[in-house]
Amino acid sequence: MATKRRTEIIIETERIIVVPPPHMPLWCDSCSLHVEMLTPEQAASLIQVTPRTIYRWVEAQFLHFIEEADGRVLICRNSLFGQVAKGS
Ligand SMILES: [Zn+2]
Repeated sequence: MATKRRTEIIIETERIIVVPPPHMPLWCDSCSLHVEMLTPEQAASLIQVTPRTIYRWVEAQFLHFIEEADGRVLICRNSLFGQVAKGS
């Protein structure tokens, strides 16, 4: 039990480091709108799937995304919920 709890704390800490600004409206070319952009981890937890599923959808171009200069991918929240509505 003690070990499990410690693991959860580590995950929590990593999440805080990885995701500095929680809500940042950015321009989505595909929507032609300013939309909330989420990290794959944020997107995954929001719709209760694994980040792997998010990356798969990005690769399949089911989701709008932008790639930042440092290589991080940000997911368009609009397209995320559009994809959920369609089902995977
Ligand atoms: Zn979009």
